[in-house]
Amino acid sequence: RAQMDPVGIAATAVPDAGPGPGWQSKCPWGAPKTASISCSLAEVMSEQLAKELQLEEENAAFPEVVAVAEGPFITGENIDTSSDLMLAQMLQMEFDREYDAQLRREEKKFNGDSKVSISFENYRKVHPFDSDSSEDEVDWQDTRHDPYRADKPTTTPKKGFIGKGKDITTKHDEVVCGRKNTARMENFAPGFQVGDGIGMDLKLSNQVFNALKQHAYSEERRSARLHEKKEHSTAEKAVDPKTRLLLYKMVNAGMLETITGCISTGKESVVFHAYGGKSATEDDKVIPPECAIKVFKTTLNEFKNRDKYIKDDYRFKDRFSKLNPRKIIRMWAEKEMHNLTRMQTAGIPCPQVVILKKHILVMSFIGQDQVPAPKLKDVKLNSEDMKKAYYQILDMMQRLYKECKLVHADLSEYNMLWHDGKVWLIDVSQSVEPTHPHGLEFLFRDCRNVSQFFQKAGVAEALNERELFNAVSGLNITADNEHFFSFFLNHGKKVSTFSSDGDPPIYDE
Ligand code: ADP
Ligand code: MN
Repeated sequence: RAQMDPVGIAATAVPDAGPGPGWQSKCPWGAPKTASISCSLAEVMSEQLAKELQLEEENAAFPEVVAVAEGPFITGENIDTSSDLMLAQMLQMEFDREYDAQLRREEKKFNGDSKVSISFENYRKVHPFDSDSSEDEVDWQDTRHDPYRADKPTTTPKKGFIGKGKDITTKHDEVVCGRKNTARMENFAPGFQVGDGIGMDLKLSNQVFNALKQHAYSEERRSARLHEKKEHSTAEKAVDPKTRLLLYKMVNAGMLETITGCISTGKESVVFHAYGGKSATEDDKVIPPECAIKVFKTTLNEFKNRDKYIKDDYRFKDRFSKLNPRKIIRMWAEKEMHNLTRMQTAGIPCPQVVILKKHILVMSFIGQDQVPAPKLKDVKLNSEDMKKAYYQILDMMQRLYKECKLVHADLSEYNMLWHDGKVWLIDVSQSVEPTHPHGLEFLFRDCRNVSQFFQKAGVAEALNERELFNAVSGLNITADNEHFFSFFLNHGKKVSTFSSDGDPPIYDE
């Protein structure tokens, strides 16, 4: 199903959802923002945390994948009808958080100084890392035209009434019906916290009421599932509610016109296609007519494998240790943005950065009419074009190294697209500077991939991996320094744990 499932929007907490501090204070269930949880590198890598993150990921999981063929799944229209609803769900989240805070207080009181303690963890509504309020949450809340201010209540077509003569009350009478809905809300699933809606004369629209009811039931089921600790295989391909909300906001702000669907679901990211909107970005950049949206996934597996790319990158060193896991994921997106910008400056064909929002990077789309350009591995080129592609890549690799001071670190026919008669480089979130402790090793691996691909493709001119390495790095490693390469060759096997079952393949023979 390609259409947005409005109930799904808030399957878990959406802490950054409020239109700002003013909204916070007006919110009847408003809880003080929880402090952001920061932790050390050791904690980040701990198994306990791994479990928590995994659990969170499962919570956030959406059961369906959106396919291009099924049409747009986020458009201006389907946002308007659900913003009222979203607001209600956000309120619920606030309330859940408050409930959890109370639970923590009780847990503390209960345990006191006792050496043996009892955990109320399983009774929580929101999981620990959902409470991710941090300074960078401000960016959307501060915008003048907040897309989530409820403008007008959604009314349903008028049908059905009760009463006689002057006292007719249609079932869509907003005030009466709203109060009734609020009262009925008290009877949702047992243990579902609804707050004191009656006390404050809250009026719920039918749409909101029904959605909340649905939400209550699905929360119940979700909660039951979680406590049974079942495996959720769908988590892999999912877009979590937070991501969905951020995407919503981009569409609502007019930056994107329509998000048509998913182009790729990899291990580390999900890429969507979108049509660019009419309004410019905050820094007045014109939005390209077609965009690719790369959403970095927040599962721990990838994140564990990849940490060496970022923690040894001096540009991110200071920050790495201070950040919570969610922020580390965002740094991947940030890294890709910076690397693409450098490449753009050096004139290397690559996607142009449009905007970065947390773990979501919007860039120009390489391809046309929703069809992404083929990967070099999939395109059939004649020998002339193949040779042309080779020389272009040689030039790009040299410029990447010398001008951008970057090593791609995942260069292969999987991350090169053929478009407009030339090769475009993509997927540079893992790219590092040559001075990175593994920089030259990554470069050697890149050279090996490129050289093998073109040799197999029959490009006689293609340098072998060592010649290519020298040509790119400007180093002159000769046969006398044989041990230099054999170090890479032996060491390379251990290092290339980068991807075990997804693309790109690492040539280890
Ligand atoms: P990863 O391999 O880490 O999942 P990539 O950046 O390689 O992420 O993107 C995955 C796939 O999405 C690419 O192989 C490509 O097919 C498509 N893609 C990514 N960025 C773009 C873009 N800017 N334009 C067109 N297609 C893209
Ligand atoms: Mn890739």
